[in-house]
Amino acid sequence: MGRTFLIFLLISSMGISAQETTYPKEAFRPPLDIPLILAGTFGELRSNHFHSGIDIKTQQREGLPVYAIGNGTITRIKVSLWGYGKVLYVAHPNGYTSVYGHLQKFSPKIEEYIKKIQYGKKSYEVEVFPEYGEIKLEKGEVIAYSGNTGGSSGPHLHFEIRSSISEKPTNPLLYGYEVRDATNPTVVGLYGYPLSKNAQLNQSNTKSQINFTRQKDGSLLADKVTALGTIGFGFVGFDRQDLAANKNGVYSVRQVVNGQVYSDYDFESFSFSETRYINTLIDYGHFGKYRQRIQKSFKSPGNHLSIYNKLVNDGKIVVKEGLSYTVELLIYDLEGNLTKLVIPVEGKNQPLKIDEETPKTDNYIVAKRPNNFDLGIAKVYFPANTFYEDFYIDLRKGSDTVMVHNNRVPAHRNFTLTFDVSKYSEAERKQLFIARLDKNSRPSYTSTYKRGNTFTTRTRNLGTYTLARDTVPPTIRTKNFKHKQWLTNYHYLSLTIADDLSGIDTYSATLNGEWILMEYEPKKNTITYNFDDRILDKKQCVLKVTVTDNVGNTNTHEVTFYRK
Ligand SMILES: [Zn+2]
Repeated sequence: MGRTFLIFLLISSMGISAQETTYPKEAFRPPLDIPLILAGTFGELRSNHFHSGIDIKTQQREGLPVYAIGNGTITRIKVSLWGYGKVLYVAHPNGYTSVYGHLQKFSPKIEEYIKKIQYGKKSYEVEVFPEYGEIKLEKGEVIAYSGNTGGSSGPHLHFEIRSSISEKPTNPLLYGYEVRDATNPTVVGLYGYPLSKNAQLNQSNTKSQINFTRQKDGSLLADKVTALGTIGFGFVGFDRQDLAANKNGVYSVRQVVNGQVYSDYDFESFSFSETRYINTLIDYGHFGKYRQRIQKSFKSPGNHLSIYNKLVNDGKIVVKEGLSYTVELLIYDLEGNLTKLVIPVEGKNQPLKIDEETPKTDNYIVAKRPNNFDLGIAKVYFPANTFYEDFYIDLRKGSDTVMVHNNRVPAHRNFTLTFDVSKYSEAERKQLFIARLDKNSRPSYTSTYKRGNTFTTRTRNLGTYTLARDTVPPTIRTKNFKHKQWLTNYHYLSLTIADDLSGIDTYSATLNGEWILMEYEPKKNTITYNFDDRILDKKQCVLKVTVTDNVGNTNTHEVTFYRK
């Protein structure tokens, strides 16, 4: 017992990476046979989440063979219009599961397996969990072809390695994969925050930007900061690998104050249940305004992230009058390349030049309690702990519009917005929906639940909402063929489907009266049928496509074609 305690003391006094795990370095082969060049790193800061894998560039094209990184069995196959698009999960005997996302298509044996399920369910979008051992794979077997499906904005392979038991994603680069990176992380911005009541930093009681210059040794030196009270720092930065211009995320950040580690976190692993707390690691207000993410070196209220290896006073620095402090931010990439930013701080009481108070409104949110507001035309209900911090909320209303604060405050949970639609007739209500207005006042559909005299939506996005009306049914057009055309040598049929306002809810297609699988790619507004799916015994074929938008406007298009 004494010995265990001693080891515990040793580990905690080292203060860094106390939970460092060893990862098998030689067990896996790469998922692609081209050099690994990354368009995204593990833990990279994304909208409402940390990136849970690496994004491997695929030379701006689709269709590269994707290999099983080790022997294993497929545990999950999903085809979705969003997220990872077409994705495979492979469990390996050593306790890890590899994940391959945004695939163009699966290998023939997996394609056959999933198409049976798609035809059975009459749905393009499916998710299955094959029995353990039902679809076995060998290391190096081609399992799929790389693509751009789901929420992907360019061809790449999203690749993850998770613990099969905890399902925690781990940094795939800890498994011995080679990515050329001798380039230090880049810092493009430094910010100081007065945190306690009456704290000041550079004669201001709100966040200030701090200038810095590059020194001969490559480190960065900030202009001297004067401060008093409890303060904290944050930076904007990225990491570039050697062979690509992509601005990827950094691996670890350590803050040292007068030689003592005050905070240290890294992206070795995290859990999906905590990923949304990214909104407390970044300065969310700054992000809402400038779309730029400041990573804070201190822990804000409501931050429940487990990524910290060490925290002293939550990474906050108490500055006393007459004393000097040297604050160092050490920013590393996974290869250990370091960018060091030194911030000299002097404890000094100075008259405030900028004395800003948070604007007060009539409505104050106490984060840990449920909050209810009645605006007449709409009611807003925030469950307890929707927000990380207490604040004055700005609520306004127009004739059919309500403003629920702005996008500079993050909501951790869904809140409910309920519109009163009693002034509208049944017919009008059918075409109405709740829309969120973007910064150019363009309406976008939000999932609208209609009941009696009310429309309700549940969302995590603060902003302006309105009732919008969609009276126009979706459009359907043939893309690679025409009505009454001979298509004997065609491999596929492609059509364009679109909806102007509420968006497409469902689509379906039949060929001579039988349901056919059409793969939908919302990014290109296309649906595609592959002739290999079925043997057509008739010469004359009638294709019938039906598309419905989110308020129920429907359009049907019928085309005849011929095939020998
Ligand atoms: Zn990705």
